[in-house]
Amino acid sequence: MKSRTIHIIGAGPAGLVAAINLAKAGYDTIVHEKHDDVGSRFNGDFQGIENWSSANDAMSFLKKIGLQVNFLCAPHKIGHFYGPNLKEVKIKTRRPLFYLIERGVAAGSFDQGLKQQALAAGVQFLWNDKIEKVPSEITIVGTGPKAADVIAKGIIFKTSHPDAYYGFLDDRIAPKGYAYLLVNNQRATFATCMFEDFRNSRIYFERALKTMRKIVNIDIKEPAEFGGFGNFFLPSSGRKNDKSLYVGETAGFQDALWGFGLRYALLSGYLAAQSIISGRNFDRLCRQYILPSLKTSLANRWFFAHLGNHGYRWVLNRLNKSGDAINILQKHHQLSFSKQLLFWLAKRWYHTRLIDKQCMHKDCDCIWCRCG
Ligand SMILES: Cc1cc2nc3c(=O)[nH]c(=O)nc-3n(C[C@H](O)[C@H](O)[C@H](O)COP(=O)(O)OP(=O)(O)OC[C@H]3O[C@@H](n4cnc5c(N)ncnc54)[C@H](O)[C@@H]3O)c2cc1C
Repeated sequence: MKSRTIHIIGAGPAGLVAAINLAKAGYDTIVHEKHDDVGSRFNGDFQGIENWSSANDAMSFLKKIGLQVNFLCAPHKIGHFYGPNLKEVKIKTRRPLFYLIERGVAAGSFDQGLKQQALAAGVQFLWNDKIEKVPSEITIVGTGPKAADVIAKGIIFKTSHPDAYYGFLDDRIAPKGYAYLLVNNQRATFATCMFEDFRNSRIYFERALKTMRKIVNIDIKEPAEFGGFGNFFLPSSGRKNDKSLYVGETAGFQDALWGFGLRYALLSGYLAAQSIISGRNFDRLCRQYILPSLKTSLANRWFFAHLGNHGYRWVLNRLNKSGDAINILQKHHQLSFSKQLLFWLAKRWYHTRLIDKQCMHKDCDCIWCRCG
């Protein structure tokens, strides 16, 4: 790839990391974003950069992929978890279990932080520029999920509750998923994430809210609804040809276990930029650095989806007794021999709701793909 001009479609985390790294390496980098700003897919809700899947702390990971922390980024080491019997399991970790960030258009959000870093590196943004066809020049496509394999439904609100995080496992409030409450600086996010029965999402949300309020004494002021979805599939390739590289969720790079796709998005954006800068094969980089985690997350999804309410109690007890939950979570995020076996089983069992994952929008009529 010799051109010095690179087009990036989508100003999500995957596209922005690619843009920052390419611009720093001297490429003319143009980001096309269909909205008028970054973060428009989100609503000021809190998310977590998980810190359990790898031995590398998420902060050193961010540094390695060329990012600075110029956004809200709050470490959390103590969490309160509840299974279906509503008994508290307090989980403490030696290092933060995750770093809380804010998503959306507001100042201080993760998205605005990355945009500022991109602007400082010389990236050019074209806003309200919805790309319908992948251009024939060198392009990185990071347009986000195309179909819903997991959905989240929740509220953001103001509160006087102190900073904390809570997790809930119960198929009656979050089928095959979990509900969560994150409180930071008098603002909170509560949501339920479900992996099936999306049609009844409102019922699950209402039950989840009722359950949470039974346990947590929290005032809810000025609630505003939010929601979203995620897409997971095993990509056969991150490239359509020599000129188009697919990153983030649009390429299927998402955590099948719980939908923690941010690290996948960031890493794939970084690898796409490195493959252009150093001429290395993008697919090979993805196979080396992303595919093992994708496979493990799918094996873990199979396992988690078969636990049921009895199994959740068992999982929480194990995490509680482990001394440090990070150790046990890290172990389960490595592609061990047993995980390889489970992966083959999970691969036969799992079906993404995306009908044609080969499409990648190339030679297709639309970017929001009708194949999904
Ligand atoms: C409610 C919710 C909670 C989540 N919580 C967490 C969490 O706690 N931790 C975690 O790790 N992950 C979480 N995720 C997942 C995480 O947000 C995603 O994995 C991540 O944002 C994917 O990044 P991306 O760059 O691939 O795509 P996106 O963030 O979707 O960005 C894609 C961008 O492309 C733009 N775009 C789309 N089509 C076009 C087009 N045709 N032309 C131009 N621009 C276009 C979009 O407007 C958007 O700005 C959550 C997701 C949801 C929905």
